[in-house]
Amino acid sequence: MHVRFWGTRGSIASPGPDTVRYGGNTTCIEVRTNDDELIILDGGTGIFRLGSALTKQRLPKRISVFVTHTHWDHIQGFPFFIPLFIPNQEINFYGTFDPVYDKSLKEILAGQMEYCYYPVRESELKANISYKSLQDRQTITIGGAKITPVMMNHPVLNFGYLIEADGQRIFFTGDHEPMRSIYEPGDEEYEEFEQIIQLRNSVLEDVITEVDICITDSMYTAEEYPQKMGWGHGSYQSCIEMADRIDAGRIVLTHHEPTRTDSELDAIYQSITKQYGHLGPELFIAKEGMLIDLG
Ligand SMILES: [Zn+2]
Ligand SMILES: [Zn+2]
Repeated sequence: MHVRFWGTRGSIASPGPDTVRYGGNTTCIEVRTNDDELIILDGGTGIFRLGSALTKQRLPKRISVFVTHTHWDHIQGFPFFIPLFIPNQEINFYGTFDPVYDKSLKEILAGQMEYCYYPVRESELKANISYKSLQDRQTITIGGAKITPVMMNHPVLNFGYLIEADGQRIFFTGDHEPMRSIYEPGDEEYEEFEQIIQLRNSVLEDVITEVDICITDSMYTAEEYPQKMGWGHGSYQSCIEMADRIDAGRIVLTHHEPTRTDSELDAIYQSITKQYGHLGPELFIAKEGMLIDLG
């Protein structure tokens, strides 16, 4: 199995001279199994270049796209994903049903292609497209790969995805903030809420224990995090600590804060290596174009 990063930025695409090396496109990750099953995680602006690259090679029989959640930075590239315009190309979307707005994944993705936003309707796309809403921890099989969605903590329903194939396991959080108590110690509800947090964390960490690669939303530094609490994202520290707890082989830190420059990310890498290099997981900061080949 191998993993390639086509978009590593969070919130908004941020191309420019300061983001050339780590990339300015928003979230999109390609996972390819050894039997050529193509699994795409999210369709941020990075999916445009992935789609262009696919059309220059032999297209796979089917393309399976797993959407963590439908915030713009994870779906905005879909209308520009060229394989959607290729007649008979099989493309299957998987994701969540939005219980707050009572909308399916198809309705949400079609919404961003309405007349006022885009010149081509979803119904006019030429590929053979299907949509499936998944349930928490409902494992599905695609070829030789097993994919399990796990509910994460974010201001909209967000699935992390565990992908198991070729004897290897990869997990991607999508957007995720570690759960924290909304009560103070001493409040009547504090203990009960702490138990809920522990239960949610143990459910998640049981599913993803000992993954080969843990790809995490690590938008903030520990210093920035207190001002951004509740926005739905983690810090380098919280992500590395989680990866260490689950005995991950490697952690790839992604969904970079949009104003973060290449030199700032270099400095963060130096700092986290110094601070956490002694822990189990090998540390990586995601770069657009980066390939990790698990063999
Ligand atoms: Zn995001
Ligand atoms: Zn989000």
